[in-house]
Order: sequence, then C-alpha cells, then structure tokens
Amino acid sequence: MDTLLVTGGAGFIGANFIHHVLAGNRWRVVNLDCLTYAGNVDSLAGLDAGRHRLFRADIADGPAVRRLLAEERPAALVHFAAESHVDRSIDDPGAFIRTNVVGTQVLLDAALDYWREGHPDFRFVHVSTDEVYGDLGPDDPPFSETTPYRPSSPYAASKAASDHLVRAWHRTFGLPASITNCSNNYGPRQFPEKLIPLMLLNALEGRELPVYGDGQQRRDWLYVEDHCRAIERVLKHGRPGRTYNVGGNAERSNLDVVHALCDLIDRRRPGNRPRRELIRFVDDRPGHDRRYAIDATRISDELDWQPEVDFETGLARTVDWYLDNEAWWQRIRSGAYRDSAGDSAADPERDGYGGERLGTAGGAGA
Ligand code: NAD
Repeated sequence: MDTLLVTGGAGFIGANFIHHVLAGNRWRVVNLDCLTYAGNVDSLAGLDAGRHRLFRADIADGPAVRRLLAEERPAALVHFAAESHVDRSIDDPGAFIRTNVVGTQVLLDAALDYWREGHPDFRFVHVSTDEVYGDLGPDDPPFSETTPYRPSSPYAASKAASDHLVRAWHRTFGLPASITNCSNNYGPRQFPEKLIPLMLLNALEGRELPVYGDGQQRRDWLYVEDHCRAIERVLKHGRPGRTYNVGGNAERSNLDVVHALCDLIDRRRPGNRPRRELIRFVDDRPGHDRRYAIDATRISDELDWQPEVDFETGLARTVDWYLDNEAWWQRIRSGAYRDSAGDSAADPERDGYGGERLGTAGGAGA
C-alpha cells in the first residue's frame, strides 16, 4: 500500500481530498497539519484510522518535515497547507509570507533531498489558485497557463511566490513537481469565513448578509469534489514541470451566488420573509479583483478531466450538507472544535472564529 503525504489535510480542500482518495484507492495518507484556526479535526471524522495518520507540525519546521519523510517514505506529496483567506492577508500579511512562501520553500528543500536520496519516483503536487493571475476585464479571455502573474492581494502574492519556487525547484534542481491553479471552491467542510458557507449560515440564522461593494465581482466556482478529482488526475498522470488550470465553467457574480443561496434556503427552511432581504452592501475590500475566469483546456485535453457537478447541483448539495451537519459548524461557532486540536485555551472572539471575523459585522467576498 503506497503512502501519500498530504499537507494541510485538516483544512477544507485537504480534508475533502483525503476522504476522496481513501475511498477510491488503496493508499494510506499521512496528514501534516499544524491545526491553525482553519484546521479542523472534526472534518476528518469517519476516516479509516488504519489508513490515516494526523501528524501535527508546521510545514516551516524543516527537521520535523524531514523526520516525517524518513519515517513514512511517501510515494508522493500533495501540498495544500496555506493561509488561505484574502481578508486575513490584508490584516496580517506576515503570516501568509511565513507559511505560503517560507513554508513551501522548507517543504521543497526537504522533498528535494528525499527525492535525491533514493526515491526517484517521488512526485510533488502543489495546489494553488487562479488569484495569482490578477483580475480580468469584462471581455478579457479567461486565464490560461501562460497568462502572466499579476497578483493583487497579499494572499495571491504569497501563492504566486510559492508557485515560482515550485517551478524553480523543478527547473533548477529537477524535482518532479506539478502545479494546479484552481478557481474558487465550495462544498462540504468549508470554514464559514468564506463567501458561500458564511452567507449560508448567516441566512439560516436570520443574520445580515454583508456583501462587499456592489456584489458584481465575478468568480468561477468549482465543486470541491471535482477539484479533488483533478488533483488526483495530476498526481497520477500529470507531467512534472507542468502547470494545470482547473475551473468549473461556472462564472457568477458574488451577488448571484448570494441570491441563489437565499432562494435555496427559503425552499429548504421557509422563514417569515425572503432571505434576500437580509442582504446589506458594505464597503468594498481594498484591491478587490473584479473578475476571474479559467480556461481549463489543458487538463481536459491532456488528462481527460472535466467538472462533473454543475453549479446549481453543487450549491444544493452544499446547502444540504450544512443542514445535515449542524454539529460540525456549531462547534466552530462556539469555538469547541479547537478542543479537538488540544487547544483548550482557545477563545473564539480573540482568535477570530466566533464573531466579527465570520462576517457578522464585516463584509464577505470571494
Ligand atoms: P484552508 O484554510 O481551509 O486550510 C488550510 C490548512 O492548512 C488548515 O488545515 C491549516 O491548519 C493548515 N496549515 C496552515 N498553515 C500551516 C502550516 N504552517 N503548517 C502546517 N499546516 C498549516 O484552505 P483551503 O481552502 O482548503 O485551501 C487549500 C489550498 O488550496 C491552499 O493552498 C489554497 O491556496 C488552495 N486553493 C484554495 C481554493 C479555495 O477556493 N478554497 C481555490 C484554489 C486553491
């Protein structure tokens, strides 16, 4: 049985990826995650304990990463771990540089030595974002793999830097690494600071829905399970040194997304008045990109991957998951999910997962 090392596997996409690959393969997964506020052990519930090991460490801790590689001898590494929320990157860019840039460099150095020291078939997959390309005008063609990098936020700049490092470690040292640049994901187990789960939960609870600016920022949306399938495809068949754009062919304005959510929740849990009346426009996020769109022709042609879940179906599934898994998000609202991380001194207000940071007072975009 091959071992796969996954970083950031207690986060949104990483946890979904682990559920996905363990269900469809005979692999064992070692999950390297330091459990920041975004890491949630509850998202790993139901995994076969014999085939999943959570190893709590920081990707920027070189000796710990090297020890883990030597001990577990993984066949491949899929790198999700990152600070991922644009709003937080505006408040505290340093954390993003430390994890996304320095952490990725530490991981690359450790992986390079491991690959050189007798693991020639080892593969490294770096999971990145379409935000590295900056924003598009209304009539511009979508981002392709050759679109120049023009990141706008500290988050996007730190991810762009990490992509450059991965590309350089391949070109200069030969490390067999591939990169994926994906559009906005949504689905089960997403931390409720991001647009869709935040609006969904606020709408359910009858709270205001704070939309940034005019709500006309356009994003391409991909259901997380489709992204997991794309990463698995790149891991198994992707060419080292190659970048693959991944998207859902589902461009929507933020306001369209919020309207669709309100209407779905009205149908699932009828209230006294339409949820759309909870929408409130708030000051726009500084540097907010207007439009992202993805041309995913390469991964379709070369790796035979296409999205399988259209936006309406994916959104309905997402709403149903949150309705069926209230304990999961209530434990985030209360801060109790941090207890599973051995972090009993956590304070939801101070640590930013109980109040304002979850958009009950600020705004939300994507
Ligand atoms: P997330 O914020 O939900 O999860 C990040 C995980 O990484 C958490 O479990 C956290 O504990 C862990 N982590 C953070 N810093 C760490 C460190 N220094 N050492 C070890 N673990 C650490 O993020 P996500 O939304 O699941 O995104 C995963 C990856 O996919 C990120 O690299 C992100 O840039 C990329 N991505 C996300 C989206 C999206 O829409 N969410 C789209 C495209 C690409």
